[in-house]
Amino acid sequence: MIRFCSLGSGSSGNALIVEIGSTRLLVDCGFSIQELERRMARVDLAPSDLTAVLVTHEHADHIGAAAPLSRRYDLTVFTSPGTRLAARDDGFAHVQEITADAPLDIDDAWIQPFTVPHDSREPTQFAFSDGDHRLVLMTDAGHISPHMVEIANGADALLLECNHDPAMLAAGRYPASLKRRIGGGYGHLPNHAATSLLNQIDRARLRHVVGMHLSSDNNHEELARQALAAGLNCDPAETTIATQDTGFDWRTTAPC
Ligand SMILES: [Zn+2]
Ligand SMILES: [Zn+2]
Repeated sequence: MIRFCSLGSGSSGNALIVEIGSTRLLVDCGFSIQELERRMARVDLAPSDLTAVLVTHEHADHIGAAAPLSRRYDLTVFTSPGTRLAARDDGFAHVQEITADAPLDIDDAWIQPFTVPHDSREPTQFAFSDGDHRLVLMTDAGHISPHMVEIANGADALLLECNHDPAMLAAGRYPASLKRRIGGGYGHLPNHAATSLLNQIDRARLRHVVGMHLSSDNNHEELARQALAAGLNCDPAETTIATQDTGFDWRTTAPC
């Protein structure tokens, strides 16, 4: 069984908790330590309950306070060499470098880091397994690569970026250069990419899909819901969206 929840998702900060057996992982720490403590308390946890921290890439909404957190709570940070190199504060208490597509075990958790096309040094997103079920985190990608389709295929749970609506981005207040960055092949996934990915994969085992990393400027929750529903053949009201303020509540891969 995999238990997971988000403490917040979006460009103002990301943090995900994944529990497998007695292993409890924090994936990204895009908040201050104080804010992380506050958000963890909401799900009855404290940083001292963590086994380790994984960091996907060096953008501030992901790496945030990972280094000071690791020092204060004596935690090991698992991240790619490129992310470590690009981190402004690389003073991790302990660091374990990971390689894309080289799976690793952290106690009870099996973890597969995989590459995504994103404008950072060496970004990796993660798939997690307890041996029976697989949870895939897939955000901060400019387009869906064939490798991402392979990874998402057959997953039990998929946390999938629905960053923006292209028309809203085009008409919005961002400067042209930022619009190009976000909408480009190494930026962020638009809503329709989520539909497309869901249409390309085997969804026989898929019980959890959550729309992640929504832009507060260039998206509406309803548009993201429609995109997910189109890929899942369900009612938009049945879809789940992670919010910046509260993420999403605990879910588990065990059959309900
Ligand atoms: Zn991000
Ligand atoms: Zn990013």
